[in-house]
Amino acid sequence: MPDEADLTGATPRRRPKPDVLEIGGRRLKPSTLMMGHGYDPALSEGALKPPIFLTSTFVFESAEAGKRHFEGVTGKRAGGAEGLVYSRFNGPNQEILEDRLGVWEDAEDALSFSSGMSAITTLLLTFVQPGDVVVHSGPLYAATETLIGRILGRFGVQWLDFPAGATEEEIAEVMERAKGMGRVPLVYLESPANPTNQLVDVQAVRRVRDSLFPDDPPPIAIDNTFLGPLWHHPLRHGADLSVYSLTKYAGGHSDLVAGGVVGAEALITPIRMMRNTMGTITDPNTAWMLLRSLETLELRMTRAGENAARVCEFLREHSKVESVGYLGFLSEGRQADIYRRHCTGAGSTFSLYLKGGEREAFAFLDSLKIAHLAVSLGGTETLASHPAGMTHLSVPDARKQALGITDNLVRISIGVEDADDLIADFDQALQAV
Ligand code: PLP
Repeated sequence: MPDEADLTGATPRRRPKPDVLEIGGRRLKPSTLMMGHGYDPALSEGALKPPIFLTSTFVFESAEAGKRHFEGVTGKRAGGAEGLVYSRFNGPNQEILEDRLGVWEDAEDALSFSSGMSAITTLLLTFVQPGDVVVHSGPLYAATETLIGRILGRFGVQWLDFPAGATEEEIAEVMERAKGMGRVPLVYLESPANPTNQLVDVQAVRRVRDSLFPDDPPPIAIDNTFLGPLWHHPLRHGADLSVYSLTKYAGGHSDLVAGGVVGAEALITPIRMMRNTMGTITDPNTAWMLLRSLETLELRMTRAGENAARVCEFLREHSKVESVGYLGFLSEGRQADIYRRHCTGAGSTFSLYLKGGEREAFAFLDSLKIAHLAVSLGGTETLASHPAGMTHLSVPDARKQALGITDNLVRISIGVEDADDLIADFDQALQAV
């Protein structure tokens, strides 16, 4: 690729195609749009489904057209490229995927990435500079904490956090302190937090951000992997960017790794430029698989959510269970208030605290016959794992205790199997404890 394009990293975009977004004034729902939005069969020999475009580069119609695309790519002419240029920038499968990803949160623009972590890394590198202070909610997914604390820390980036359930006053206190330490480039949230399931009051974060930074507000980005894109729409509550590990519910079959960021066009554009430079875009095959997954996203998530509600009701009553950390059981207090204001469903990932410790947790996990013993979440199949001994093994004991990651904790992600079969499985595994 010519250096010019690499340096500017600007965006090749295809021209929008005619697309049916409403009928008789009725705006079509995401589940309908997932079948065809962003894809024009006439551009692919009439194929009902988009082919997988395995190509590293795109042929220009003429030298004049190539020059015109590059004028758009390099910013010499406004509006971006009128055609595809090179596959590190974009491709048909990725563009269709991005059009559809944006639909769920009614976002202006969207980007796809090679993993959730490459999405988060590209996002952070777009906004932070040495000396900056990233304000974030805590805890974050462990690799995100490592990235902010240890990796960006090597380049002089500082951070300050507030607990996920913090009040508006507590959030304001932390943001004010951060403002005194340096430039705040980004407010980064995760809700529900992994692994505590604690919710962040996005509306309060937005009010504090707007009042403390009236002239140059730092963007609010939020990891929406656990409840998005069906049950939590943070852009409606004041976030500017919503971040996803598409590996989880969006991919939904535990057979791919990918990430996404959706939000305001003015913020997506610089992230796209960083992605163009770094090369963190998803590949065409994964983008195609995600298109297939998105067609059933609402079906899968709805069924998983209904299953989880039934399984949690069963577990809560069981004599060998100490407690169940499930959002659907929130009834009073600040978390319940945030839940009612922000979420439309409780998800299908929860914490199960057994009576006892590691021995009981392991006996339970080793006895499961339907649920698989594996980390991750959001797939069609039910998964169970032991955070203290697996995903959070290297977390210091004091922090584990503070986060409620005790030896008797089992994390469960419910899938789309038959709910009664799952209950029978959990019942027999509890009997084995
Ligand atoms: N964010 C959250 C909340 C996660 O749970 C994960 C992975 O488990 C990630 C981000 C990272 O996603 P990926 O594994 O796709 O890089």
